[in-house]
Amino acid sequence: MILILSENTDVVSEEYRQLLETLSALPGIKHRVHHVAGAERGVTEIYLIGNTKALEVEDMRSLPCVDKVVRVSQEYRVLGRHKGDDRPSYFDYKGVRFGQDTLHVFAGLCAVDTPEHVEMMLRALRDAGQVCTRMGAYKPRTSPYAFQGHGKDCLPYVFELAGKYGIKVIAMEVTHETHVDEIRAALAQTGDPTGVMLQIGTRNTQNFELLKAVGRQREFPVLIKRGFGITLDESLNAAEYLASEGNQRVVFGLRGMKTNMGDPHRNLVDFSHVPVVRRLTRMPVCVDPSHSVGSRSVGPDGILDVMHVTAQGVLAGANMVLVDFHPVPSKALVDGPQALLLSELAMFLDDVRLAREAYLKRVASVHQHALAHT
Ligand code: PEP
Ligand code: MN
Repeated sequence: MILILSENTDVVSEEYRQLLETLSALPGIKHRVHHVAGAERGVTEIYLIGNTKALEVEDMRSLPCVDKVVRVSQEYRVLGRHKGDDRPSYFDYKGVRFGQDTLHVFAGLCAVDTPEHVEMMLRALRDAGQVCTRMGAYKPRTSPYAFQGHGKDCLPYVFELAGKYGIKVIAMEVTHETHVDEIRAALAQTGDPTGVMLQIGTRNTQNFELLKAVGRQREFPVLIKRGFGITLDESLNAAEYLASEGNQRVVFGLRGMKTNMGDPHRNLVDFSHVPVVRRLTRMPVCVDPSHSVGSRSVGPDGILDVMHVTAQGVLAGANMVLVDFHPVPSKALVDGPQALLLSELAMFLDDVRLAREAYLKRVASVHQHALAHT
């Protein structure tokens, strides 16, 4: 059960003290306080854990400071969408809103290689009116002999260039908690010119100590990828690890499942789960068409497979698209074969716009038909 406190609740007030005293006296119930940072004001939520079946919603609502009570109907306590739960499903970061109603494209380099390529990419994004990107500095690689990313050495120029081209949020994978400290230090050193959304890659979805560490910090939002060989439920529980440690600014990313049933694609595209994740949780949902498809294959209609699956995700209500581009894919150090060209950026963005318009029309159509039957 979740108690959502009134917006103006003062945590040093007598009422708040009385509330905590009452909760502490409930037999077999533990409570955990979460302060959720909002755009204008923060909200305090108290999670009641234990035998909450014995509690009446009305009794809890009448306690001091309590505004709303949500009975948790399934297991993703913090991020889940519970019955009668009308808490907002968005967060704001660096002036960009991430929610189940918004859509942002994060086009960029799978891995940072040279400052020249970073600048070419960011300039193209600025010219296309984009404020988000992806830039990999820490790359989890199958072979220990493969390029592992430039790590902290590239961060200062990546952040400075992002600031120069008006980029507000960079999705960047971290594979160890020390990477978060390196990112924080590089941002401070360069005068905080941009923001970072930490990415947990598919190989680390169940790296629980990494999840706990990234969940403990509240500064950076997190994009967590679905594990490529585990169930959706297991991956949603992994996202819940982040939130249960305190960071609720979480985006959930689909990127295809590892099975040769997906051949000739690199992974079996799982974007039919976009509406499922939006129904079960309040998280915005990201799709990664590049790591799903893994190539620049083109259909007989002239449309790249990467664009086809992006459209499928967006048509299903996706809120974020993470996609690999490179100015010179033949020179990319990681995943060149799946990178789109800068000359394809405008076409890609137009196609995303078309799919988004079609999605919004689908929603309007369903509502109209539903109204006609009431
Ligand atoms: C990536 O986005 O660069 C990446 C490695 O993705 P994934 O974890 O989905 O393989
Ligand atoms: Mn990659």
